[in-house]
Amino acid sequence: MDVIVIGGGIVGVATAYQLRTAGHRVCVVERHATVAQGATYGHGGIVLPTPLDAWFGPTFLGNRRGVVYRPGLKSSARRFARRLAQLQAPEAFRDQWLRLRPLVELSREAIASIEAGFHLEFEQREGVLHVTRQPREWEQVQSALDLLREFEMHHHVLSASECADIEHSVPAEPAFAGGVLFPRERTANCPLFTKLVKQVLDEQGGVQFLFGRAVEAIRLENQRAAVELAPAEGERKSAREVDVISCDAVVVAAGAGSAPLLEQFGLSLPLHPIRMLSLTAPIAYEECTPHLTVVDSIRRVSMTRMNQRIRVAGAAVLQPERELAKPLAEPLAEAGAALLAQATHDWIPGAAKISAAHEWEGLRLLSPDGLPVVGNAVHPRLFVNFGHGPAGWGLACGSAKVIADLVSGTTPSVPHDTLSALRAERFAN
Ligand SMILES: Cc1cc2nc3c(=O)[nH]c(=O)nc-3n(C[C@H](O)[C@H](O)[C@H](O)COP(=O)(O)OP(=O)(O)OC[C@H]3O[C@@H](n4cnc5c(N)ncnc54)[C@H](O)[C@@H]3O)c2cc1C
Repeated sequence: MDVIVIGGGIVGVATAYQLRTAGHRVCVVERHATVAQGATYGHGGIVLPTPLDAWFGPTFLGNRRGVVYRPGLKSSARRFARRLAQLQAPEAFRDQWLRLRPLVELSREAIASIEAGFHLEFEQREGVLHVTRQPREWEQVQSALDLLREFEMHHHVLSASECADIEHSVPAEPAFAGGVLFPRERTANCPLFTKLVKQVLDEQGGVQFLFGRAVEAIRLENQRAAVELAPAEGERKSAREVDVISCDAVVVAAGAGSAPLLEQFGLSLPLHPIRMLSLTAPIAYEECTPHLTVVDSIRRVSMTRMNQRIRVAGAAVLQPERELAKPLAEPLAEAGAALLAQATHDWIPGAAKISAAHEWEGLRLLSPDGLPVVGNAVHPRLFVNFGHGPAGWGLACGSAKVIADLVSGTTPSVPHDTLSALRAERFAN
């Protein structure tokens, strides 16, 4: 089949890869000049989410420590946060993790197969250490630890002094509650991986990349589908002259730009974009630099070494949707950067030269039940793959495989429960 993928982030590129592997011809349409320019650009490095990284459950948005701004009581952002908060109860958290877990494991296999098949090097490092400051916050992470035990995920629960012994850059003083080490979980460079997968596709053929063009609308008919393109920069067109590319199926993998493309079909999804910040700082002192990725589990800040730099990512800025089109107000940007700098100072003091850090912010689309939106939607020729929240890097390769199976008419290898929980139509109930 001829398939158009809208979006050239990690999700779109991974989808193109899986579709091509399944034998389809693919065209990726991306409004930027190259791949990995959206949320994919500023990722924090964590490859696959554990229950401690999931974007629902007892530690997510449930405390003020990792959130820079909370909107007014009546705003849609506040309603969204309330819906997510319903998943803080241990049983609800467990049920949702059960639905997500097969997608995590499918992604693990899909990434391993790409890595092994093409010998890709994208700054992979093993070892993630989650740390928690206060004893009452340690209580909050217990339901995540229960899931780690139940599903026998390889991990070690550590005291503060054991954390400091294993990762010399984390000071044992001032005292902190404890940590969890995932010796086999990995971090890596997501934009680099995305570009390498594109390179593989360029070399193999069968996938065309159309850059600098935005999709304005999708057309769906019984026999064919098509996308309408906005004029390229500097191009003038009359209302009647529209560039249209036809195909057999369309996959919307446009990150935060996905929901507007679906509104024409009456699909209004309650997803909310959350702004996240990152600081990329040169290493200050080599001997203070962590060899593990250190994550503040409650503030949700990850500190990852990437070559000669440290990437510090987190600081969720929850804003009403109308404010998202504007640049982030300076006081909020400063508060976000201060939160990231403070986490760095607390957990890996002396490692990063924060005064020379490059600041970046991006939007990641989050669903109110914490699961991405993946599958066929509205029409047999329309597929969706977005809303992966803070774990898009990790889940992209698995959700791309699900889409390729569905487009090919093959049953995906994740359980039916997971597939139904990912469908766009789940919000209609
Ligand atoms: C600060 C930060 C830290 C993060 N840390 C991690 C992490 O450690 N681990 C992890 O797994 N995830 C992390 N994430 C989340 C992860 O980066 C995202 O989930 C993932 O990159 C989403 O990929 P995507 O391809 O869906 O979106 P994007 O990368 O945003 O790509 C979507 C693309 O679609 C294009 N597009 C949109 N609309 C149109 C249109 N109409 N026509 C043509 N093109 C269009 C955009 O230009 C964009 O390039 C982080 C995110 C942020 C912001």
